[in-house]
Amino acid sequence: MSNTAATVWNNCLAFIEDNITSQAYKTWFEPIKAVKLTDSALSIQVPSKFFYEWLEEHYVKLLKVALTKELGATAKLVYVIRMENTYGNKQPFTERIPSSNRSNTQASQNVDVPLKNKSPELKNPFVIPGIRNVKIESQLNPNYNFDSFLEGESNRLARSAGIAVANKPGGTSFNPLLVFGGVGLGKTHLAHAIGVDIKDKYPEKTVLYISAEKFVQQYSESVQKNNRNDFIHFYQVIDVLIVDDIQLLSGKAGTQDVFFHIFNHLHQNGRQVILTSDKAPVDMIDIEQRLLSRFKWGLSAELNHPDYETRVAIIKNKLYRDGVEMPDDIVEFLANNIKTNIRELEGAIISLIAHSSFNKKEITIELAKKIVDNYVKHTKREVSIDYIQKVVSDYFQMDVETLQSKTRKRHIVQARQLAMFFAKKFTKASLASIGSQIGQRDHATVLHACKTVDNLSSTDKQFRKYVEDLQKKLTI
Ligand code: ADP
Ligand code: MG
Repeated sequence: MSNTAATVWNNCLAFIEDNITSQAYKTWFEPIKAVKLTDSALSIQVPSKFFYEWLEEHYVKLLKVALTKELGATAKLVYVIRMENTYGNKQPFTERIPSSNRSNTQASQNVDVPLKNKSPELKNPFVIPGIRNVKIESQLNPNYNFDSFLEGESNRLARSAGIAVANKPGGTSFNPLLVFGGVGLGKTHLAHAIGVDIKDKYPEKTVLYISAEKFVQQYSESVQKNNRNDFIHFYQVIDVLIVDDIQLLSGKAGTQDVFFHIFNHLHQNGRQVILTSDKAPVDMIDIEQRLLSRFKWGLSAELNHPDYETRVAIIKNKLYRDGVEMPDDIVEFLANNIKTNIRELEGAIISLIAHSSFNKKEITIELAKKIVDNYVKHTKREVSIDYIQKVVSDYFQMDVETLQSKTRKRHIVQARQLAMFFAKKFTKASLASIGSQIGQRDHATVLHACKTVDNLSSTDKQFRKYVEDLQKKLTI
C-alpha cells in the first residue's frame, strides 16, 4: 500500500515542483511524507499544525489539481500531523481544526478534535472558501482573532481602533476604518479579527470579508451576466463590510464607481466599513478623488514594522500555539534578522521546525542562519532613493545633479521620472518624500512621473527596455 501512496505522491510532487519556486518546494513539499492510500484518499504526513495551515492557505489549489490528476475527481487529501519535535514535547492536546463535513468554508466552522500523540488525521474536503455558497457566509478565519494578534507599539492605534469598532460597529467615528501598512504586517489578520469579534458579540449581524481582488472579479462577472443590480443589492444588505487590499481597485473605474455607491449606502445607513490597503490614502494611485475622500472620513490607522520586543513575542506565541520549544538565543536570532515582514518571520520558524523535526536534528543557530539566509535572499533588498538615483544616472550616463536639475530636456526628464517611479516601487517613502529627495519636486510631480512611466512602458518599446534594464539592476 505505502508503495502506491509513495508513487502517487511522487507524481504529484513532480507536477508541484514545476509550478512553484524551488525554495518554496524545498521548504513546503520536501518535508512531506506520503503515508497511506485508501481508495482515492491520500494521507500525507506534515511536521506541524502550522505547516498544515500554511499548505492549506497557500497551496490548496495546487494540491487539488495535482491530486485530481492522479486520483480523479473524488481525490481526497488527509493530513497526518506529527506533533513531536526535537524537544520531545509530546503531551496529547486538543486543537481546533477545520471539519470536513460540516463546513463549506474553511474558516467559519470548526470542531474540536482530540489530537493524540501520533497521527491525528485531518480531513481536507478540498473546498476552496467561497466558491460554492450563495448565502452570505462571513468568510472569516476564526484563527485570525484579537487574541492571536499580539499588541505592540507598531500596531497599537490600529488594534485599539479595531476593538472600538468591534464593540460598536457603525457606532463610532471610525467609519470607515482604514488599516494600512506594508506586506505581511497584519492587515488581513486584523481585518478578520474585527469581523470575528463582531460576529461573536452580534451574531445577528451580517458580516462579510472580501478581498478587493475578488470584489473586482465579482463585479466584472456581474457586468458580463448583466446582473449588476443584484451585485449592488447583495452588498447593500451587509452590516459590516470588510474589503481587504483596497489599493487593488486602482485603475478600475467601473468597480470604483460601484464601490462608491455601495459605500455611500452602507455609510448612510450606519453600517460599518473596514478597509485595508498597502498604502496611505494620499499615496494611492489611480483611485478616484471622491472615493479617496470617503476613505478619509473615518480613521486611517497605520501598521508599522514591529519592534524587537513585539517580534520576539510573536515568535514565542507562534511556537507556543504550535507546541514547539525553541531556545531563546534562536528566537532572538530570528527576531534580529527578519524585521520587516511578520509572514516571513513565521515562514522561517516553520521552515526551521520542519527541517529539524524531519531530519531529527536539533534546532541550532547554524540551521537558523541557513534558513534565514534563504528568507532574506528572498525578501526584496531595501534600496535607498539615493541608490536608485545613482543607478538611473549611471545607466543614462549623466550625473545625479543633472538628473535632479530643473531642465526640461526630454531624456533628463525621463531619467528623473524613472528614478521617481522606482523610488515609489522599491521604497516605502511617500510621494512627497520622494519628490523632495529627487530634485525638490512636489508629490503631484511624482504621481505624474509614475503614471507617465506606466503609460510609456506599455506604448514605447525602447522605454520599456529602460524600465526592464533598470529593474534588473535594482533587484540584483
Ligand atoms: P498583510 O495582510 O498585512 O500582508 P497578514 O495579516 O497576512 O499581513 O499577516 C501576516 C502573518 O503575520 C499572518 O500569519 C499573521 O497572523 C501574522 N501577524 C501579523 N501581525 C501579527 C501580530 N500583531 N501578532 C501575531 N501575528 C501577527
Ligand atoms: Mg493581506
